[in-house]
Amino acid sequence: MMTRNELITRLESPLGELSDDRELFAEAAAVRDRTIGRRVYLRGLIELSNRCRKNCLYCGIRSGMDGVGRYELTDEQVFAAVQRAWRAGYGSVVLQAGERVDEAFVGRVERLVRRIKRLSDGALGITLSLGEQAPQTYRRWFEAGAHRYLLRIEASSPELYRRIHPADHSYRERLHSLRVLREVGYQVGTGVMIGLPFQRVEDLADDLLFFKESDIDMCGMGPYIEAPGTPLAACSSLWTRAERLQLALRMIALLRLLMPDINIAATTALHALHPRGRELGVEAGANVLMPNLTPEEGRGEYRLYDDKPMEDTDLRGFDAVLENVWGDSPHFAARLRSSSSGSSADGSEK
Ligand code: SAM
Ligand code: SF4
Repeated sequence: MMTRNELITRLESPLGELSDDRELFAEAAAVRDRTIGRRVYLRGLIELSNRCRKNCLYCGIRSGMDGVGRYELTDEQVFAAVQRAWRAGYGSVVLQAGERVDEAFVGRVERLVRRIKRLSDGALGITLSLGEQAPQTYRRWFEAGAHRYLLRIEASSPELYRRIHPADHSYRERLHSLRVLREVGYQVGTGVMIGLPFQRVEDLADDLLFFKESDIDMCGMGPYIEAPGTPLAACSSLWTRAERLQLALRMIALLRLLMPDINIAATTALHALHPRGRELGVEAGANVLMPNLTPEEGRGEYRLYDDKPMEDTDLRGFDAVLENVWGDSPHFAARLRSSSSGSSADGSEK
């Protein structure tokens, strides 16, 4: 396994031309192809609502943001998007929203998950990305039929986490949530933003080691992009946007080398910085794409940052998996097998 110093060396080599990283990207893509095959899984992303109780310093839909029209999709709009995904042959959908913990929201998500399951005769996989919740809530949603959960750690350094969040947002609670999700039985995905103010190359190397140590099943990470009007947008990053794109691609490639069998998403933020951003992510070793299926009514208001692309991904040229398969990470299956046999996911005894 690559050491911290090796990761730092790879990450800090001069940024400039993407073609300089050709070998790294090709090596990572080859590892993906050998381990999990030349497939790209599609998840239809549905942005349920931009109402949020949190106030993360970087986010364009934070609660303290004035002038954001708040919306919530109706059940009909959600089901129309789900039908679209189902008819197009997607194996799974992702329900994402700002964080809310009130019973009206929790109960609604539970009902939506049950109905989506019924709608597809149980065949459509459901991933949730709805922030930090009580263990009981995670359990309710799991029992309703959701089986994957995305909760980014955002920055694995507690110090950096503290600098990009208000004082009442807790790193320890975020970590605790990740642990609970796993105990409940979800396939757990996490990730970070790349190119944040105050972030250094050492932090990025530590993020990769954090993913490895946490034995995650999925990862969604992407470049940080300033959201106008947020407190963090006034702070400068060490890297230009073009450099953040290149660093994000290096992070994807290095993570693929560290964790060959996990699901790694090529995120929307890559696309925001480059017209072929998601395709570049796949070329660097990613295997999951999340085309946006949010109906027009919501899309304009779910602006997490500047330049968020509104159009769907152009999938031409991809070896995309469009038959109705869930696309679970082989790593998760290995983790289940090993937890029942007492050995770890990589086959070694615990
Ligand atoms: N509220 C949930 C949460 O925070 O986990 C899910 C929705 S949140 C909008 C999804 C992700 O958007 C966050 O995990 C964060 O990494 C990302 N995000 C927010 N603001 C961003 C920015 N300015 N640049 C890049 N990514 C951003
Ligand atoms: Fe809310 Fe998520 Fe944005 Fe934080 S990142 S303000 S929790 S939507």
